[in-house]
Amino acid sequence: MALDRGWFTEAIDATGTAFSLKAEKLHEEQTPYQKIEIWKTETFGTLMTIDGCTMVSTRDNFLYHEMMSHPALNTHPAPKNVVIVGGGDCGTLREVLKHPEVQSATQVEIDERVTRLSEQYFPELCDRNDDPRATLFFGDGIQWMKDAKPGSIDLIIIDSTDPVGPAEGLFGKKFYLDCIRALADDGMLVQQSESPLLHLDLIREMHAAMREAGFAETRLLHFPQVIYPSGWWSGSLAFKRAGSSVERLEESAIAALGTQFYNADTHRAAFALPTYVRKALAS
Ligand code: SAM
Repeated sequence: MALDRGWFTEAIDATGTAFSLKAEKLHEEQTPYQKIEIWKTETFGTLMTIDGCTMVSTRDNFLYHEMMSHPALNTHPAPKNVVIVGGGDCGTLREVLKHPEVQSATQVEIDERVTRLSEQYFPELCDRNDDPRATLFFGDGIQWMKDAKPGSIDLIIIDSTDPVGPAEGLFGKKFYLDCIRALADDGMLVQQSESPLLHLDLIREMHAAMREAGFAETRLLHFPQVIYPSGWWSGSLAFKRAGSSVERLEESAIAALGTQFYNADTHRAAFALPTYVRKALAS
C-alpha cells in the first residue's frame, strides 16, 4: 500500500526501513539548527519530528524518558547534580526531578524552539519546569561541557538527536574527555545510543570511545520505543570509577516515581543483554 497524503513517514535509506503514522501537520518551522514539525496523529497523540525523524509522541514518550533517567539515577549512589544535554522537550528533566535526592538539574538544549514548542504542544512534559531545582540553559552542550567546573556533576544524561548535525560532536572521545573532567569521582553518564538491532556498530564504537577517553566501565541498557527505527532503543552508561555502580531499587521509592514502564523488574531486565549484543560488546 502506498502511503502519502494523510501520513507522516520517516524513511531511512541507510537501514532500508520506514515508519509511518496517520497524521496531519499542525506546525512547521526551520530554526537555525533544524526543521521542527508538529503532527496530530490518529493513534499516537501529538508527534514532534526534527529533520524528518521522530522525536517524541504523546503515546509512547514515557518509555524513552523513564528509561533514559531512572535506571541511571538508581545506579548512581547519590545523584545530586544532574545535567541533561539536549532533551529540549523536557520529558527527561521531568523524570529526573521526581527524585528527591536530586538537588539541581540543568538542561542544556541548543535549540530553544524545541522547548517553546514542547511547552505549547506537550505541556504535560513541561509541568516540572518551574521546579526551583531546574535550570533551562539554551546553548551548545559541547561548549557547555568544555566550560563546566571540574568534578561538579554526578550524572550527565545525553538526550540528543542522532549523531548528525549539531549532535555529531556529542558522540566521540573529545566530548567524553570533557564529560569525565566535569564529573565527580563516582560520576557517570548515560547517552541515548540508538537501536541495538540497526546500530550495533555505533554502540560498539561509542563504548570503545568512552573507554579510550578514560571511563573505567561501560554498560548498555535497552527498552522498547515504538516510534524509533526498529521499535527498540538503547542507552549507554559510562562510569568514571570502576565498581561505583549500585542498584538502588527500594520499592517505596520506585512507587513514588509514578512511572508507567519503569520498576525494579524492568530496571534489571533493561541491563540483561541478548547474546549477540553481549558478544559484540565483548569483542
Ligand atoms: N528522544 C529523542 C531521540 O532519541 O531521538 C531526542 C529528543 S530531544 C528533542 C533531542 C534534542 O537534542 C533536540 O532538541 C536537539 O536540539 C538537541 N541537541 C542536538 N545537538 C545538541 C547539542 N550539541 N547541544 C545541545 N542540544 C543538542
